[in-house]
Amino acid sequence: MIKLAVLGNPIGHSRSPEIHGLFAQQFGIALDYQKVLVPEQGLAEAVAELVRQGARGCNITVPFKADALALCNEIKGGAASLGVINTLDFSPDGAVHGYNTDAQGLMTDLKDHLQQSIQDRKVLLIGAGGAAQGVVSALIGEAPETLHLWNRTHQRAEQLAGLSRSAGLQAKTSAQLDGQYDLIINATAAGLKGSVPDLPSRIIGPESFCYDLSYSHTETPFLQWAASLGARHRADGFGMLIEQAAAAFHIWFGLSPDTQVVRAEIAS
Ligand code: NAP
Repeated sequence: MIKLAVLGNPIGHSRSPEIHGLFAQQFGIALDYQKVLVPEQGLAEAVAELVRQGARGCNITVPFKADALALCNEIKGGAASLGVINTLDFSPDGAVHGYNTDAQGLMTDLKDHLQQSIQDRKVLLIGAGGAAQGVVSALIGEAPETLHLWNRTHQRAEQLAGLSRSAGLQAKTSAQLDGQYDLIINATAAGLKGSVPDLPSRIIGPESFCYDLSYSHTETPFLQWAASLGARHRADGFGMLIEQAAAAFHIWFGLSPDTQVVRAEIAS
């Protein structure tokens, strides 16, 4: 039985155990994947405990993705420049290797599954926490016409825009958000508490594609708000969750699960 876990706070909403369970079935792997509710200052202890138990690794979710960086003996695949980790892989000698698969998950879902291109489009990224930090470089790399960044605490948006060192990324206050966007990506945790970021309604039009990294069995509060403003094209982050999980599964097992099958299995 191979042991894995997802560490976060809150954690009850996580669907990662179900997704990794279905991936493991595809390859006949016996998996014990648990959700672990970690207290505010408890990440280091929770990771050390998993290493002691002989786990293969773990996923890291809200709000610990930046904290996880300091726990890694080695940081792989560009995650050091992002400053946030969502996957830890433990070697048999207890060394901890950190990765970030969020950008790969978002891009696969947006481009391959939802057929949304980013190039030459006017894009707004909402949020400046671990999730936004993890995907912003990939968005810049797709050469949008405009990439604006808004965050409830504006100073954090300024910091993230400064960190990315790309002239194409501009932090904006609500008053500076000008007109409708082609693609709006909500990377805030507001939905976890049933709320919507306090944004002006003028940013959304009927053709604005609205994407929420949060996901739920019913439409998320952000997507409900977008629908109330007439946005016809909307998707939540469940597809991203499956794709970032597939990338993590590949790190742990060197195997690529069939994500289409899992999307269909979970939807049915
Ligand atoms: P985080 O590091 O804790 O950051 C939280 C972000 O949300 C900050 O930008 C914060 O703004 C903002 N925020 C929180 N409450 C808000 C509110 N009421 N109104 C406006 N903004 C608010 O969390 P994270 O790791 O970035 O995760 C963010 C969300 O993305 C979570 O819901 C997570 O589940 C989701 N996510 C999904 C996937 C996926 O695969 N689908 C992957 C990664 C993350 P301040 O700076 O002002 O506090």
